[in-house]
Amino acid sequence: MSIRHEELLEPNGKLIHLLPGNLEGLIKYESVYDIILELLDENPGVELDIDPSFLRNLLIEKKDTIDHSIVELTVDHDKSLMLSMLFGSTFIHGLDLVLNKYITFKSKVQLQDYLHNPLQHTSEFTIIEQTVSDRTIAKLLLKLGFKLQHGILMEVEQAPIDRANPIGEGYSIDLHNWYCNCNEYQLQYTNDMKPIEISQSITLIERFLNQSESVILDPIPLCQHILAILILLYNKDKLYSRVVQI
Ligand SMILES: [Zn+2]
Repeated sequence: MSIRHEELLEPNGKLIHLLPGNLEGLIKYESVYDIILELLDENPGVELDIDPSFLRNLLIEKKDTIDHSIVELTVDHDKSLMLSMLFGSTFIHGLDLVLNKYITFKSKVQLQDYLHNPLQHTSEFTIIEQTVSDRTIAKLLLKLGFKLQHGILMEVEQAPIDRANPIGEGYSIDLHNWYCNCNEYQLQYTNDMKPIEISQSITLIERFLNQSESVILDPIPLCQHILAILILLYNKDKLYSRVVQI
């Protein structure tokens, strides 16, 4: 989709014109082996007792014996970088929510039917800010069948990773009213906001705004929770299993 310069200068230009193209294909699969090597390069030593380059060498030595078909969700670096520049911490937190936190879905229809056409059915998503699938190097090594002990990569049976029961505050996201009950969202409301008509109805975001049951005010508020659900909807084939229907 080509974007005109003037469109980007509109107050909601980032949300309406740049977000959809960068959300599509943001989430992808990558081999767990490659993800661990990238983590070791990016965050040297955060959670390890040994030198990350030592672990890196151990993994490279075992390269041919490791199952590279074991995959995990990861992000497209270029799109992620662009979205970080455009939306800053709202995107960074939104991505963390959709990848690692507890997300529930409530609707009259099954999640699969909803995801097929999210505009047709009302729904409520809730995000509880408890980490249920944090990505530590130890957990990723376990997925490959290894445990790091005394500087040696020991082979272990691949165990399923425990899912903690969520406890904590939940935020409700209602895209049919473009609404979230968090502070980040509420604080964006000011007295000078005016109703806005969305001129096009091509992308999913435009269609949600166009069909909103509430009046959309300009500039359109966006919080990390709404962004998390948008990441989910634009990458539903990769992320549907992160959602628990209640
Ligand atoms: Zn929110």
